[in-house]
Amino acid sequence: MRIALSLLLSFSSQYNVLTSPLVEDLHKDGKRLTPQRLKVLNLFENIGSGNHLSAEEVHEKLVKSSSKVSLATIYRTLRLLVKIGLLHELELSEGGHRYELLSNETPDHHHLICIRCGRTEEFESDEVLRAGKIAAKINGFKLIESSLNVRAICPKCI
Ligand SMILES: [Zn+2]
Ligand SMILES: [Zn+2]
Repeated sequence: MRIALSLLLSFSSQYNVLTSPLVEDLHKDGKRLTPQRLKVLNLFENIGSGNHLSAEEVHEKLVKSSSKVSLATIYRTLRLLVKIGLLHELELSEGGHRYELLSNETPDHHHLICIRCGRTEEFESDEVLRAGKIAAKINGFKLIESSLNVRAICPKCI
């Protein structure tokens, strides 16, 4: 996914050569990867997987790199990128959301989330994956991912 995404980004940064299958899919869906959306994707690519940003943080970073973009546009863009499977959305307890790049490189992972400051740590757990697999199988579901969000309070916020 990561490689595909980089390819997609380099293709699309020229705005005229849209040959990647993913981009074609996006066209089919009528959801074009506009320069704005590519900028958001690029940002996640650059910070790498394992980073979890809120919409406000994405906005702040883009404004710093002199992109004129409203927070409302960022919200819309993030929702769209989640919908088409390029970003993964983490729901925090207090209605906040964080986003990370969806990548095949990183296996299903889980999150330890501070409910006060939003600090997010990743961890892996075979037990969780196994439990998800079994639950899906018992109910005849096709498994997509198993991930666990643990709400907690980090040492700084205790
Ligand atoms: Zn993560
Ligand atoms: Zn905290």
